[in-house]
Amino acid sequence: MAKEYRLLLSYTEREDSHTIEAYESLGGYQGLRKALEMEPDEIIEEVMKSGLKGRGGAAFPTGKKWSFIPKDHPGPKYVVDNADEGEPGTFKDRELLYRAPHLVLEGMIIAGRAIGAREGYMYLRYEYLWIFPRIKRAIREAYQKGYLGKNILGSRFDFDVYVYLGAGAYIAGYAVSTLESLEGKRALPRLKPPRTSQVGLYGMPTAVNNVETHATVPIILSKGADWYARLGTPESRGTRLFSISGAVKRPGVYEFELGSLTLREFIYEVAGVDEGTELLGVFPGGLSSEILTPDELDVPMTHEDLEKVGSTLGSGAIIVLDRSQKALSILRRSIEFFSYESCGKCTPCRDGTNWMTRILVQAEKRGYATAEDIALLREITRMMRGRNFCPLGDSAEFVARTFLDKYEDELTRKPVAA
Ligand code: SF4
Repeated sequence: MAKEYRLLLSYTEREDSHTIEAYESLGGYQGLRKALEMEPDEIIEEVMKSGLKGRGGAAFPTGKKWSFIPKDHPGPKYVVDNADEGEPGTFKDRELLYRAPHLVLEGMIIAGRAIGAREGYMYLRYEYLWIFPRIKRAIREAYQKGYLGKNILGSRFDFDVYVYLGAGAYIAGYAVSTLESLEGKRALPRLKPPRTSQVGLYGMPTAVNNVETHATVPIILSKGADWYARLGTPESRGTRLFSISGAVKRPGVYEFELGSLTLREFIYEVAGVDEGTELLGVFPGGLSSEILTPDELDVPMTHEDLEKVGSTLGSGAIIVLDRSQKALSILRRSIEFFSYESCGKCTPCRDGTNWMTRILVQAEKRGYATAEDIALLREITRMMRGRNFCPLGDSAEFVARTFLDKYEDELTRKPVAA
């Protein structure tokens, strides 16, 4: 594709790209070699200079997150790789885990060296069980070659990696819930603060990063932060992986330099849309991002530009909806999803999502929402707003509210009698 910039994806192209031989032939583990020659602070400084922001959704600067880990902490510290990827429409981390597991592992090891951790945990979503053998093999290969274990590559740095299979809950992907689950408990969110960098896994300082974030770190170390920072825009450095699905001709995972194209260019020129297809809307960053109407798509794909139109790059999942789908049905399915995934800990989320689902199910059976339905849905969103313990409840409220704002006419339109 003309505008693709395959930086991370260049490690996924060979049939045997998951093997250590293929990875080393592409320069794999050079970033780690460099990191072992550097002081931990220098690694953090390098990652900060690169401008890398977390690729899981929150877009928090990675180097800054690592710098919050206390250096003089007497107990153990941990690295956690969040491979839970549960946001609907998101499947880009899967590509890296399956085709380039060494890239992710190398990033975890470098993170360990930077923060002074000796153990890393990969929290793999249960639905990715089929990838588990490849990851196990990659870990075994890394031990055999001396990239994991004691005195890595002759240094005095030890690091071990363990894989933990999640149990398939949406909120388990939320960092504080991930840690609860890793500790063998229900994946209920914890109160923040304290930050996970202070009190994380087993109460110890922990750096939790997403798969793509870890996979980017070895490239920054081997090519240099200055090189990486030249890609993208001042606010959105580097490249990003996007998974696109829905009403497009070529769904899949693509990688672009941030800001190098607009959402409309991506959808129409890269992924392609069948002639005559009329779009209803696009989620630019997963189900929890604000849906954009067809006339809002000329927005460059950067954090700052998506924010200007009230949305977000989120988890990098672009869901394209055409008019063969009814707004009412999409809203009902979205809210039903949040209701199903609500852990039930707090009333606004638990009862609000359930109540909205019941209203929407009735409206869908009728074929349209009444003015009373709309008023009640608005009232429920008002009661939920800002009163949820974790982002799930806020996302449900946000999705409902933006749909009501942008698609009220569609939701209330009576079907034409046959
Ligand atoms: Fe659980 Fe929802 Fe409350 Fe989050 S907002 S803690 S998912 S009930």
